Amino acid sequence: MVPAGFLVACGRQPIAEPAVIPGQNVLLVTIDTLRADALGCYGGPATTPALDRLAAGGVRFTFAHAHAVTTLASHASILTGTYPFQHGIRDNSGYRLPAEARTVSTLLKPRGYRTAAFVGAFPVHSRFGLNQGFDVYDDRFGDTRAPDEFAMPERPASVVVPLARSWIAAQDRAGKTGGQEGSGSAGARAFQASGSSESSGSWFVWVHLFDPHAPYRPPAPFDAQYASQPYYGEVAATDAALAPLLDDVRAAPRPTLVIVTGDHGESLGDHGEQSHGLFAYESTLRVPMIIAEIGGGTPVGNRVEVSRIAARHIDILPTILEATGQASPADLPGRSLLTAPERRDALPRASYFEAMGGMLNRGWAPLAGVLVDREKYVDLPVAERYDLAVDAAELTNLAGRSPERDRALAASLRGFNATAPGQRQAEGADAAARLRALGYVAGNAPAKARYTEADDPKKLVDLDQAVHDAVAAFTAGRATDAIQIYQRVIARRPDMAIAYRHLAFIDWQRGDPSAAVDTLRRAMKAGVTDPRVAGQLGGYLTDTGHLDEAIRLLEPLAGVPAVDVDALNALGIAYAQGRRAADAKSIFERVLSIDPGSSVPLENLGTLALDRGDAAEARRLFERALHVNPASSRAHAGLGNAALKGGDSAAAIQEWRRALDLDARNFDALYNAGTTLARAGDLRGARPFLEQFIRTAPPALYAKDLEDAARLLGGRRSP
Ligand SMILES: [Zn+2]
Repeated sequence: MVPAGFLVACGRQPIAEPAVIPGQNVLLVTIDTLRADALGCYGGPATTPALDRLAAGGVRFTFAHAHAVTTLASHASILTGTYPFQHGIRDNSGYRLPAEARTVSTLLKPRGYRTAAFVGAFPVHSRFGLNQGFDVYDDRFGDTRAPDEFAMPERPASVVVPLARSWIAAQDRAGKTGGQEGSGSAGARAFQASGSSESSGSWFVWVHLFDPHAPYRPPAPFDAQYASQPYYGEVAATDAALAPLLDDVRAAPRPTLVIVTGDHGESLGDHGEQSHGLFAYESTLRVPMIIAEIGGGTPVGNRVEVSRIAARHIDILPTILEATGQASPADLPGRSLLTAPERRDALPRASYFEAMGGMLNRGWAPLAGVLVDREKYVDLPVAERYDLAVDAAELTNLAGRSPERDRALAASLRGFNATAPGQRQAEGADAAARLRALGYVAGNAPAKARYTEADDPKKLVDLDQAVHDAVAAFTAGRATDAIQIYQRVIARRPDMAIAYRHLAFIDWQRGDPSAAVDTLRRAMKAGVTDPRVAGQLGGYLTDTGHLDEAIRLLEPLAGVPAVDVDALNALGIAYAQGRRAADAKSIFERVLSIDPGSSVPLENLGTLALDRGDAAEARRLFERALHVNPASSRAHAGLGNAALKGGDSAAAIQEWRRALDLDARNFDALYNAGTTLARAGDLRGARPFLEQFIRTAPPALYAKDLEDAARLLGGRRSP
């Protein structure tokens, strides 16, 4: 903080007040899974000097709320300035932001802004459509596969922040050489006055930092400092990683509007919930929000403004538009928070919120609610009402105590005209009929007409805890315990998709594909409506050679606009294995157009090219795949196969070795390297590959190859 005397000496009034500065840069930082009470400046246990300093020069909102409690839905609200029932994304998968959506980036880009996003984890992968309007959308997590049930492709703030810093540095250098930059010492007002081509050289950057999300594994030295509170260690580490970016922006000649918020909080056991997504209590719904203008010689404020108004995620877009001198579209539901009157006036900012994960993933009752001033109403079979002014921890449910208040808040909620979630990857009657013809009750059964108390998430939260316990058990190597937990969960709640999906995944990982397939078939026969169950089953059926059933199952999933790329990819593989190369090619090309940042469709197209004998084209495709994802084991293995086809077995071996360095469980590379060397007479070179293949490849999927390998080793199986 600059001492007040310095400011007086400079003849400037201290201003923390954000102002309209046409063409200023915009930095939006979303920190995933950030509780409102975690940061130091919010009185939290995490030491967060960088964000505390930012708040000290701007406005800190103490009553800010998200509208959803899952990552993708919440970010869609932040970027589009609309509620989930308006942008349509109600959960982390099965939804995609429509191509015509209006976002911060699509609105600023036509104004001359260069736009870039640097994101930390899979839920905001470009395949979900948040990338529209961005010149650069950097979502390279090093692994372009969808997350499996127990691991999420992600990268830490210490990787994401430097990418944003170097992109910004390049823009600022370009701006300077282009002669559009005002002198830094001239300050913000001079900048504003000179701004005839106001936005030339301006940028909008969104940085998404995933670190506080579970699992909580802070890097050193935060691991030791927060050994008993690792979640807060992640928050402190995120702040430390972010600090240099804020320093850069503060030192830059052009002023920057900085907005920092969380996408949702984290329960940490509050109300029986461990993480987030099930409920919408304040632990997960309330988020921090800080708005400041820094850099460009903007005066340094010497007061901290703490605003108690009800700030909402939908207010962020109008705030950005006003601060950069743009008109806000009239139909946006939010209102700018930029000017002091907006932050002080008594106009209510009622807020809609929801938690649809229980309904969509578990078959439980949907949760929707409303905040009006400090009153909160949750519409569930067992309704809830809280007075947050006196009961911030939501310990006393007031529903039923004042029917008049209940009715008023219920009416306020109805006033939003929120629609129920659309069916995930909503399909026509045709698709549903085809699924029924397969003996499945439904792939997209309508939501229940009526939910009872038995469907209320409050009554079922222990099942959610059981799923967490099962994940922990499996991750700790206790697969049998995990299987037993899932079987108990399914016995009590046979419509709980996540239990079947995890159980099948464990079966599969343990090398028991037929059990995995049976588990998912059982889910569909029990009427589970989550299309991801069908997608997962289709993939497993393909890998076990049940191609006809896989294709019948996956084709309906592929025929919808918001198609899940993993289901689509599985269909392409089923076609390819069923010798329908042309169909497979068009599917993989569609995957590529939806998800151009993934190496997977290129690798699959490369494999198709090899199958038809076009080694040159295959090589080009695998090289493109490596360009997209240099860490792709499959792409290197594919280059090996292409080299072998071209007669260069030395090059092939080299590529397979690289593939195995990147993924020791690339069984195809192991097998190909071992058999190629053995057939060339180099049994000594082949032995380590073949032995490792025999030791690690799942017999259920590689039965014949394992026999070949054993035969090549002279019939001797390694112990
Ligand atoms: Zn999140």
